[in-house]
Amino acid sequence: MLDLASLKELLAQPQKIVITTHHKPDGDAMGSSLGLYNYLVQLGHHAKVIAPTDYPDFLSWMPGNEEVIIYTENTEEAALLVAEAAIIFCLDFNHLSRINQLGELVGASKAYKVMIDHHLEPQDFDDYRCWNINACATAQLVYGFIINELGYKEYINKDVASCLYAGILTDSASFRLPNTTAEVHRIVADLIDAGAVNWRIHDLIYNSSSENRLRFLGYCLANKLEILPEYNTAIIYVSKADIQQFNVNTGDTEGIVNYALSIASIRLAAFIVERKDMVKLSLRSKGEFPANEICKKYFSGGGHRNASGGQSNKSLDEVVAEFKSILPEYKKLLIQ
Ligand code: 5GP
Ligand code: MN
Repeated sequence: MLDLASLKELLAQPQKIVITTHHKPDGDAMGSSLGLYNYLVQLGHHAKVIAPTDYPDFLSWMPGNEEVIIYTENTEEAALLVAEAAIIFCLDFNHLSRINQLGELVGASKAYKVMIDHHLEPQDFDDYRCWNINACATAQLVYGFIINELGYKEYINKDVASCLYAGILTDSASFRLPNTTAEVHRIVADLIDAGAVNWRIHDLIYNSSSENRLRFLGYCLANKLEILPEYNTAIIYVSKADIQQFNVNTGDTEGIVNYALSIASIRLAAFIVERKDMVKLSLRSKGEFPANEICKKYFSGGGHRNASGGQSNKSLDEVVAEFKSILPEYKKLLIQ
């Protein structure tokens, strides 16, 4: 274990630091990681962000992006950095399985591991923890970690602020989820004061679709949306062939599930997609409905109450059938 005083003492000297985050990084994963990265390099540390896999193009504008190492494309360099690191920051995940093969290297590393995260049920692999499930984003926790624990608020410059803003923006579904508290808005106001250009970041993230993505979205809504009115549930499911037909890239499927949830009566929405080696589910819910419970119980996954995910090795049709077969168990909650 590591207490705050020892962590601060360690950080008082330049250190070799690795920052890593969950596979298929989203806006909060990259925003929190690069926010912390841009802060640490100003303090003179040799920091590197290692993403377990690639991530969508709409996140590539973030300051420091060109320095990110993608593990699957640079395994040797990543392994060396992990082996030589004095501190490894683990951001927006709390189970080593969420970083794929990188998890074994991080688990075996002698570095101090600092977990900053807002997911339920953390695994015990860390030495220092900044963990709060009520936070709307890990980027919110990174902000608090800098302000309240590490200090040097003045290093929250435009680069740091822009990344953290992006993390909060995306994980709070544009400040719409119930965990977007007044405190979150105060933090966001501070980030704008520090140089984050809110409207520009929104454009970079949400108004940067490819034509393919928009046509794919249209196809999903016109042909692949199934409503189950008796369960206030909507499902969109797409096969490998659909993905190939529209030349869909990493990130192009992100957010499509929200269109299913935008129907007035719908309380639970699922986006089910056949990937190369598995079927992936993304669930979203409104209000109290625990979407993460379904993911955890039936699809080897988890996440937050209103946004969760999981996977299965069964076929697409089998997964869709299994998902539908689970709904009666939750009928009471769904039709409230
Ligand atoms: P998405 O639907 O955007 O892929 O994921 C939404 C949220 O669900 C993520 O922020 C993450 O917290 C969680 N999640 C997605 N996939 C998995 C998974 O396979 N396992 C776990 N434990 N959580 C997941
Ligand atoms: Mn997050």
